[in-house]
Amino acid sequence: MAAALGTLVFYSEFDDFETWKKALQAQLPTLQVVHATAVERPEDVHYAMAWKPPAGFFQRMPNLRLIINLGAGVDALVARDDLPPGIPITRITDPQMGRMMAGYVLFAVLRHARDIPHFEQAQRRGEWAYRHPRAHADITVAVLGLGQLGAMAATEVQRQGFRTLGWSRSPRRIEGVACRSGMDTLDEVLDQADIVVLMLPLTPETRGLFDRARLQRLKRGAAFVNVARGTLVDQAALTELLESGHIDSATLDVFEREPLPAGDPLWRMPKVLITPHLASVAIPESSALQIAANIQRVAAGQEPEHRIDAMRGY
Ligand code: NDP
Repeated sequence: MAAALGTLVFYSEFDDFETWKKALQAQLPTLQVVHATAVERPEDVHYAMAWKPPAGFFQRMPNLRLIINLGAGVDALVARDDLPPGIPITRITDPQMGRMMAGYVLFAVLRHARDIPHFEQAQRRGEWAYRHPRAHADITVAVLGLGQLGAMAATEVQRQGFRTLGWSRSPRRIEGVACRSGMDTLDEVLDQADIVVLMLPLTPETRGLFDRARLQRLKRGAAFVNVARGTLVDQAALTELLESGHIDSATLDVFEREPLPAGDPLWRMPKVLITPHLASVAIPESSALQIAANIQRVAAGQEPEHRIDAMRGY
């Protein structure tokens, strides 16, 4: 019989505990999976899988070996001041999650490329407002952030025949995508883009990267898509540039404040599509494969994969 793996504690207000427990135990039958509210012996907990747990959460468990961020974005986790030192942190990097995100990004890119906001407005006026479609090859899409999610999205975009630019911190190679790296190349990428897609993690370097000056650099009539984090962008400046028409339209899944407050002017903008932070979510059945492999690695005294670098911020 396989040796017992010990206990994993689960905390999330957004994800269903029983579904995750079933998915994890299907991979690791000897792993005890316990909800944070039901932990009797915190000293027996070796693994914590959590999304935005309360302050002091990890400090209750003196024998933790692994922290699993229940999501792809780790900004909320690495910003905490109560992380136990030296415990590896991993995040969800599931191909199914990448596919869901790539689907959303492709939808958003096509929405702008095919002038759907224009037709939606015309329909509301009862108007047959013909606008000749542009060829995909004549539209440049810039995908900023080429990580687990961004690389997959950029690949899908280029497969549709768009001229696709990619941007990251270190050099990347993606077939069909013209990749640039480093801060000194960002403006050159933006200057060419008809559609800008933000897929960067929120870090001290990227917070506020899209300030007023940078947003003003976007081509007149460009479209803006943000599926990363709201605080990468000066939202007031984005709103003004949308109002003035400098930025034509936007698809926004993330905001400076979430939920987006009821009176926010973005709600009323006819060419802005707002979705409530769900471009992609962790899927228990497929994510459990990656989580289980990491738990087995740690139990065997090895380094987990996809470890995040808290200093770098992602
Ligand atoms: P990764 O950590 O795998 O990749 C991050 C990418 O951004 C890498 O290409 C990295 O460069 C690049 N990057 C980081 N910092 C900089 C910088 N200063 N300058 C230029 N490039 C930079 O992230 P994922 O692809 O997994 O996810 C991206 C983000 O998407 C997450 O951090 C999260 O915030 C967001 N997200 C949103 C969801 C939603 O539902 N809206 C769901 C899931 C995630 P390099 O390649 O050199 O490391």
